Amino acid sequence: MKLVLLGAPGAGKGTQAVKIAEKYGIVHISTGDIFRKNLKEGTPVGLKAKAYIDKGQLVPDEVTCEIVAERLKEADCQKGFMLDGFPRNVYQAQALEKMTDIDVVLNIAVDLNKLMARLTGRRVCAACGESYHVSTFTQSKCLKCGGDVIQRADDTEETVGKRLQVYTEQTQPLIDFYQKKGKLQSVDGMAAIDDVFADVVKVLDAVR
Ligand code: ADP
Ligand code: AMP
Repeated sequence: MKLVLLGAPGAGKGTQAVKIAEKYGIVHISTGDIFRKNLKEGTPVGLKAKAYIDKGQLVPDEVTCEIVAERLKEADCQKGFMLDGFPRNVYQAQALEKMTDIDVVLNIAVDLNKLMARLTGRRVCAACGESYHVSTFTQSKCLKCGGDVIQRADDTEETVGKRLQVYTEQTQPLIDFYQKKGKLQSVDGMAAIDDVFADVVKVLDAVR
């Protein structure tokens, strides 16, 4: 299964991706995670991406598309994969079409007005990437792996505001783009996490 997870920052892509990877055994590729890993390791890609991530802007398309194209060539992607956070604009979606054929684009639909609270309250495990929210989780160690639970540097009010603006201007048009291609399926991302996942499973079981 070749799957794209579409949705605004904070829609719950990462949260659902972990569950999807667990149930279906498919590789989870998050471009945001790839950039953060490069940043941590101080690679040239990481240093370049930092300036954009800090401002809530998209990393340039050439850099991002190259990373995805290389990643998709790896052996673990040959049977299928799940892209989270890519594509984020029409240019990237067209570039993806040249790399491979996607089976389904799963849009996690949310009320954009609710995302500021989700994102400024988000906490993530620095080791495994598991997502938490301060409203339900206040511990400092990850329940899954024991890693440190931290706040992402770009989950501040100012940067989140910019990221939501970038989403509206550049990423939201992809809903229409994939709808016209007959690839789009949507789930209600405002439901509780397990209920969203139950809907996701219905969609994915039908396309498998
Ligand atoms: P994304 O990967 O789309 O940016 P995340 O999966 O990291 O979003 O989720 C953002 C925040 O919202 C996290 O704190 C997460 O725990 C929380 N969250 C995710 N899905 C839901 C949901 N269905 N209802 C309430 N909170 C959610
Ligand atoms: P995310 O983890 O998906 O919220 O992404 C965090 C940040 O990484 C974004 O705000 C962008 O700066 C950068 N990023 C992630 N994916 C992409 C992408 N497909 N294109 C450009 N920039 C990206």
